[in-house]
Amino acid sequence: MAQLTDDCFAFGGPMMSVDEAVAMIAARIAPVADTQILPLAEADGRVLAEPLIARAPLPRFANSAVDGYAVRSADLPSAAEETFPVIDRVAAGASAEAPLAQRAVVRIFTGAPMPQGADTVFMQEDVRVLPDGQVVLPPGLKAGANVRLPGEDIAVGAAALPPGRRLRPQDIALAAALGATELKVRRRPRVAVFSTGDELALPGTVPDAAQLFDSNRVMLLAMLKRLGCEVSDLGILRDEPASLAPALRAAARGHDLVLTSGGVSTGEEDHVKAVVEGIGSLVLWRMAIKPGRPVAMGVIEGAPFIGLPGNPAASFVTFVYVVRPAILALSGAAQETPMPMMVRATFSYAKKTGRREYVRANVARGADGVFEAMKFPREGAGLLSSLAETAGMIELPEQVTSVTPGEMVAFFPYTGLLA
Ligand code: AMP
Ligand code: MG
Repeated sequence: MAQLTDDCFAFGGPMMSVDEAVAMIAARIAPVADTQILPLAEADGRVLAEPLIARAPLPRFANSAVDGYAVRSADLPSAAEETFPVIDRVAAGASAEAPLAQRAVVRIFTGAPMPQGADTVFMQEDVRVLPDGQVVLPPGLKAGANVRLPGEDIAVGAAALPPGRRLRPQDIALAAALGATELKVRRRPRVAVFSTGDELALPGTVPDAAQLFDSNRVMLLAMLKRLGCEVSDLGILRDEPASLAPALRAAARGHDLVLTSGGVSTGEEDHVKAVVEGIGSLVLWRMAIKPGRPVAMGVIEGAPFIGLPGNPAASFVTFVYVVRPAILALSGAAQETPMPMMVRATFSYAKKTGRREYVRANVARGADGVFEAMKFPREGAGLLSSLAETAGMIELPEQVTSVTPGEMVAFFPYTGLLA
């Protein structure tokens, strides 16, 4: 398991900015060391452990980019069209019989190797075939046109994929194109998840008058799985130090990260903080983020610990800006800044400076074709409907104090935040 020092998440300031949190997490959490070799078919979403070096150029040989006629560039008609005999035919997967003679052409198809001596291809649409089988080539084609050169995609010896790449389908295709059958990836981070709170009931049971169903745990487990983690669902912990301490300690021993929700505010019944301080070390950050705010980071027996706030929307947002970077760091993956789409606000909003806010919203094309953001009408951090009925969040940076209709704002679709 990853080993961290006890004070590694200590933070001096009164409020930690989102960027400070991400930078600290990325710098302090080391990747899991174990690697495994996976066949390409199982590598999607996994994190590459070492660079993929091209042992051969891609493409391996010069080939035609089109269906047409291969010529020597020295023979290209310069001023007027010229007629040439067709002396060979090369389909994809075959090779020319002999080098191309002067003042002759070879019928060639996309992907077929260029005959020796030929370096330019006319598209079949641009030539005329005469009844006797000869072809008429127009003037004006550039030497080298319509030919793919060896190594023009990837040069031999180049790092085709960097370590830390979370493999996507196109990355796997590149590995296959270079002849690889398997890739070395890091093992998945193992994450333990608890909910905390005396008020929580298990879905499927009959809640007391004062209980609510635990919804954070399934959300966090699902978010972790989307990020490629192996998860352990460790249930609900009561707000009592005697049960919290042994459970958290046992979880820390077998996992790369221990994640909880609830119990990290500063109320008298928020015991997670005191318990983690007792069995490890803990710092409670007040993050300059809304929804969110109290987030605990710590170390238990060398394993990182993150305590998210209990309110569902706060849990969700702090997951994205604290847990996601931590999982990427544990996975050995490069940090990925989510990419927004710029959309036009249709609403007014007043905001305090000094903190970043995420406004849950939907987006649709306006009458003039520009995408517009509609804010979810209510803002409470406890509202699950605000997450379920929206497609993403608008980010309002720290220095912003207001939004007025017509202004362009940055919208982050959930799909980009959860992957
Ligand atoms: P806390 O962070 O423990 O003060 O909890 C803040 C709010 O979130 C309270 O209303 C809790 O009941 C609620 N809450 C805490 N944990 C969960 C959970 N696992 N699922 C749903 N709501 C929760
Ligand atoms: Mg609580």
